[in-house]
Amino acid sequence: MDVTTRYDLIIIGTGAGGGTLAYRLAASGKRILLLERGDYVPREKANWSSRAVAVEGRYHTREVWRDAEGRPLHPHTGYCVGGNTKFYGAALFRLRREDFGELKHWGGISPAWPIGYQDLEPYYTEAERLYQVHGERGVDPTDPPASAPYPWPAVTHEPRIQALHDDLARLGLRPFHVPLGIRLDERDPRTSPCIRCETCDGFPCLLHAKSDAQVMCVDPALRHPNVTLLTNAPAWRLETSTSGREVTRVHVRRNGPAGAMRTETFAADVVVVAAGAINSAALLLRSASARHPAGLANGSGVVGRHYMGHVNSVLLALSRCANPTVFQKTLGLNDFYFGSPEWEFPMGHVSFVGKLDAVALSAGAPAIAPGWTLELMARHSLDFWLTSEDLPDPENRVTLDREGGIVLAYRPNNEEGHHRLTDKLKALLRQQARCAFHGHECHQGVFARNLYLGERIPLAGVAHQNGTIRFGHDPGTSALDVHCRAHEVDNLYVVDGSFFPSSGAVNPALTIMANALRVGDHLQARLGAA
Ligand SMILES: Cc1cc2nc3c(=O)[nH]c(=O)nc-3n(C[C@H](O)[C@H](O)[C@H](O)COP(=O)(O)OP(=O)(O)OC[C@H]3O[C@@H](n4cnc5c(N)ncnc54)[C@H](O)[C@@H]3O)c2cc1C
Ligand code: SF4
Repeated sequence: MDVTTRYDLIIIGTGAGGGTLAYRLAASGKRILLLERGDYVPREKANWSSRAVAVEGRYHTREVWRDAEGRPLHPHTGYCVGGNTKFYGAALFRLRREDFGELKHWGGISPAWPIGYQDLEPYYTEAERLYQVHGERGVDPTDPPASAPYPWPAVTHEPRIQALHDDLARLGLRPFHVPLGIRLDERDPRTSPCIRCETCDGFPCLLHAKSDAQVMCVDPALRHPNVTLLTNAPAWRLETSTSGREVTRVHVRRNGPAGAMRTETFAADVVVVAAGAINSAALLLRSASARHPAGLANGSGVVGRHYMGHVNSVLLALSRCANPTVFQKTLGLNDFYFGSPEWEFPMGHVSFVGKLDAVALSAGAPAIAPGWTLELMARHSLDFWLTSEDLPDPENRVTLDREGGIVLAYRPNNEEGHHRLTDKLKALLRQQARCAFHGHECHQGVFARNLYLGERIPLAGVAHQNGTIRFGHDPGTSALDVHCRAHEVDNLYVVDGSFFPSSGAVNPALTIMANALRVGDHLQARLGAA
């Protein structure tokens, strides 16, 4: 084992949580070490290849997890600098103000957070600036109050999406521009970093024009001489003092000479875990010791439990007219987020995935509409993304196998709202305006797309993973306090998606980023930084 190297702060993971925190603390002058399990995503033409990305899973980890029955699970997740923000669709939503309170759903209760929307609001505003979010306030009927406008104007709709917007508005709904973290300057396309292409959602950006955690946070943080990044450095275990009250060493497993595995150790006054909700829970469970027999900081028994990932689906709406949209992810609909006149429970959020092509479609083996080929379907589809909230069930959880590998048990819940949302969307599409060429016959119906060919749904789709190390006031029912510090370990923090007690139904990344900035302020004060 190598000699321990000491820092003021170690951050494990460089994604939405870890990367943003590193940015926040970089100017403090404190010695900061970033430990990242993966490497940089290579810049190569394959970044924008549907075959490489969607079919071959070029940037997915090859790590194999297990499901509750012990069957192999190939998670759709990437280990790299910037974490999953390298691949995200950059839809950067605030949670709704009501999501912070208790909400009654068809399937049970979505629990309240220990902080309110007003506590996170200034950090949402800052995160929107940092990630250059483009949007328009006050159109989405569920928008929470904000202290500043979006820093960039909304991304415009292409004609087919504008027509859909106009149809929905004609029906009395309030479609809106999805807030997006892409560095697009529509006023000056010649110098705009983003070129508004079709390979964004799910793909790394070849131009570094997506506001991901590497480009916006980790790269700038590394310009400070006090910040060091170690790639290919997975943290395997955290060791504590004999009292169990502080983490004294981080054990990292690295490839040594001739491929032999060796362990290096690092130490810091403060250790922040930001490895993503599944890996962070696994790391704490793997760090069990005499003082922490059920896993580090797990006296409550909640570490690994309450895993959530949203109820998600992709729906293709086919028309006889083509959909030539290139950048499709501009429109959202939240009119049914909290319910409808006929249904008192929350239903969720409607928006779009990136425009699918035939190659990407072949990976999901959609039911092929009679008389259509995959090419035709891809050319004529509107590709909707529907998200509803799943509820925190203690039996939906991360555990470890005998070798310390990840086991993920998940039983979907609260699905009725999602079914109703799907039916709503289908009904709305049937009411689209008559097309000049095909009349009402233009709309051909809606087809579900299975995103996970040959793999179990929804387990492998861990994109929105959260909830496994929840924060709260009560050490009996939560692992972290309101500053995301472990109740039982004084110098241990968790700042990725793990801390969510409930997840709302909008995409999670902006909330993780805003919270990292909030915890960053707390840590600045704790470390006595300027
Ligand atoms: C295809 C796709 C599309 C998405 N689209 C959106 C979207 O449009 N909007 C949105 O809000 N969200 C979206 N998401 C989700 C979003 O990317 C995540 O919510 C967010 O990145 C989670 O942040 P995190 O900090 O919790 O984890 P991550 O960003 O995943 O970061 C975790 C980091 O920890 C590293 N790591 C893991 N284990 C270890 C270890 N043991 N030691 C060291 N390092 C480790 C990982 O390599 C990674 O860098 C999408 C995700 C995917 C996959
Ligand atoms: S749309 Fe813009 S940000 Fe997204 S991949 Fe294309 S160039 Fe990059």
